[in-house]
Amino acid sequence: MTNRLRIFDTTLRDGLQSPGIHPVTLEGRVAIGLKLAEMGVDIIEAGFAIGGKLDYDTIATLAQKGLDATVCSLARTKRDDIEAAGNALKAARSGRIHTFISTSPLHMEHKLRLAPDAVLQAAIDGVKLARSLSDDVQFSLEDYTRTEREFSYKVIEAVINAGATTINLPDTVGYSTPDDYAELIAGVVNNVPNIDKAVISTHCHNDLGLAVANSLAGAQAGARQIECSINGIGERAGNAAMEEIVMAMRVRRDRMKLETGVRTEYFMAASELVQDLTGMAVQRNKAIVGANAFAHESGIHQHGVGKNRETYEIMTPESVGQKKSAITLGVTSGRDGLRRKMEELGYTLQKEQIDKLYPLFMDEAAKGRVTDAKLKELAAKL
Ligand code: MN
Repeated sequence: MTNRLRIFDTTLRDGLQSPGIHPVTLEGRVAIGLKLAEMGVDIIEAGFAIGGKLDYDTIATLAQKGLDATVCSLARTKRDDIEAAGNALKAARSGRIHTFISTSPLHMEHKLRLAPDAVLQAAIDGVKLARSLSDDVQFSLEDYTRTEREFSYKVIEAVINAGATTINLPDTVGYSTPDDYAELIAGVVNNVPNIDKAVISTHCHNDLGLAVANSLAGAQAGARQIECSINGIGERAGNAAMEEIVMAMRVRRDRMKLETGVRTEYFMAASELVQDLTGMAVQRNKAIVGANAFAHESGIHQHGVGKNRETYEIMTPESVGQKKSAITLGVTSGRDGLRRKMEELGYTLQKEQIDKLYPLFMDEAAKGRVTDAKLKELAAKL
């Protein structure tokens, strides 16, 4: 099995379904899509073509850009949905129709009001129609992690026979744990006779804070596509964060032995673009792209990083597009951190000057955050 894993980004589809975000215009959506393509993302899910003009236009505009990335539209198994997706993708160098239907007893009975056999037939018919419009067809079993296993094997085998080339196994409600999800995927690998004809994909939600861990567990069990989003945005608690997945694979290549084509030095720019356009800021301690991800405040850590960054950093800030390790000062900082910070601000201070400045700084730090302006003011008194 190949160790090259495809990154499928759903920032523009699931991500923009995040509650409470700013509406993002066509121009903004296209800017995000172009950034994703520039970063080397394999598949860009640009929207749900039947869902409205904005989604349709985003898909159609990106399809016309001649991107190396595959442009994808979501579609239910209904004829109108699939035809709208096919039309929106017409100009794409590489276009994918992603069709889906729920397969869990709960969803089939209460949401779809369909018997399992009718769901199976809708899946087969949807995939066949999609294949008549595109060679690249993905099928998702919505609410897969609450689907009966034997039924899921039957559906997967049938849709692969109908022409699906990627099978997505979503943890739609964020219910799985890593060992559980890995076991489910291993079950598919071992029980679906024609599974070698399709790529298995993950789509994990973060309701229990496990979206990234579950996605990686899925990849270890045989998935070769991961669906994810920039900053982990998406329905409810969000999707798996692309920057965390890709950096985990890169930093721990020794364990995971998987590779992606993503240019990681673009992460910060992509994160900021999505934060600006959606109005949804990431928390300071967000992994990879948060303001604190490469910042050090305690004296012991500042001293270590000052000598050798590897003492407290497992990757470089430059590798993810953050400018450099930031020295922030607070009550746990020491004289060495203060000296380095003053150097950043353009002051070369002697030991005696630091000894004099340090207690003044500590008095300020006890009251709250010490700004650069305050440090300059204190230095002027030396
Ligand atoms: Mn989702």
